[in-house]
Amino acid sequence: MRIAFASTPVGPLGSGVGGGVELTLEILAAGLQKLGHSIEIYAPSGSVLGGFFVNQIGGTLQTPAQDVDRGEPIAITKGSVLENIWDQIRRDQEKFDVVLNFAYDALPMRLTSLLRARVVHLVSMGSLTDAMDEIIVETSIRHKNAIAMHSRAQAQSFSGLSPDVRIVGSGVVLDNYRFNGAVDGALGFVGRVSPEKGVEDAVAIAESTGLPLKIWGLLQDAEYLQRAKSLHPRAKVSHEGFVTSEQLGRELGQCRALLVTSKWIEAFGNVVIEALACGVPVITYRRGGPAEIVVDGHTGFIVEPDNMGQMAEAVRQIGRIDRSECRAYVASNFSAESFARKVENWLHEALTAG
Ligand code: UDP
Repeated sequence: MRIAFASTPVGPLGSGVGGGVELTLEILAAGLQKLGHSIEIYAPSGSVLGGFFVNQIGGTLQTPAQDVDRGEPIAITKGSVLENIWDQIRRDQEKFDVVLNFAYDALPMRLTSLLRARVVHLVSMGSLTDAMDEIIVETSIRHKNAIAMHSRAQAQSFSGLSPDVRIVGSGVVLDNYRFNGAVDGALGFVGRVSPEKGVEDAVAIAESTGLPLKIWGLLQDAEYLQRAKSLHPRAKVSHEGFVTSEQLGRELGQCRALLVTSKWIEAFGNVVIEALACGVPVITYRRGGPAEIVVDGHTGFIVEPDNMGQMAEAVRQIGRIDRSECRAYVASNFSAESFARKVENWLHEALTAG
């Protein structure tokens, strides 16, 4: 297949603003290319992705959907990079069998019926606004196989979605994550430092367990982190900054456990499989994708949503988890190869469904 990738318009690839989408796109580009497909990428100017041709597209960046209130209508910004990406794809469409959209936006959904090329969407987040819910659900019903999601929990967050929606999971390149069998390190938190990620709960758990907490991730809301720290003055917290995925793969293994304290429904939670790949067990609230990935008592623990007492207790029990089982679980279920194959199957079916 000749495949065009339409990247997220919230930030250039490599900036971290796109969160999990950035690595997902990279893994799929490499994985689908290995399977013999040709890939061309359209992404905001400044995007960096080694080994691939990236059409660098200018324009105003989009506001991430997680920063918008549920009732807000869809805003179309003048001169937006989103519009420019799709205008370029419209002009180039004869070059492709299929256009794979990574943007969580209305415009690409609408274009599913307006472009001659087949357009399909890998939806990166759960339900966030009424307007986007409506358009995602409608697209899923009108266009068979046009939509894939990362987890069942993500799909369930939308009501009325077509049962044809594909669940494709996610994947990691195992070799990029260094296994570490040591169990006495700090607690870890990986993700954009932003309220929907619930960093404040991880800080509270660091305080109640007396263990240091290392945070890796883009500081999207510095005040929020400051507030969390001042609410829990005895917590030993260090912000390691936003590091490249190579560096994260080298450092993450030093953690005793990864805490996933998200307040929103994570579509998947790439950081969960990244930590497990390093041998780091994951303790998560029973909410969204992470609770679908973690095998309670084997690759970490699942505790009730927002129950920090239970999470602190799980931290104390973490020595019961076999770290090599965590890595083996990722190798069998979430390799980059198996993810690329699932997406390849979905694309084939989407093309035959027409
Ligand atoms: N990440 C990174 N460097 C950091 C912190 C995070 O490259 O310092 C990456 C992380 O490896 C993961 C992504 O950011 O691939 C976050 O994805 P996730 O699906 O967990 O959350 P999202 O940000 O999409 O909500």
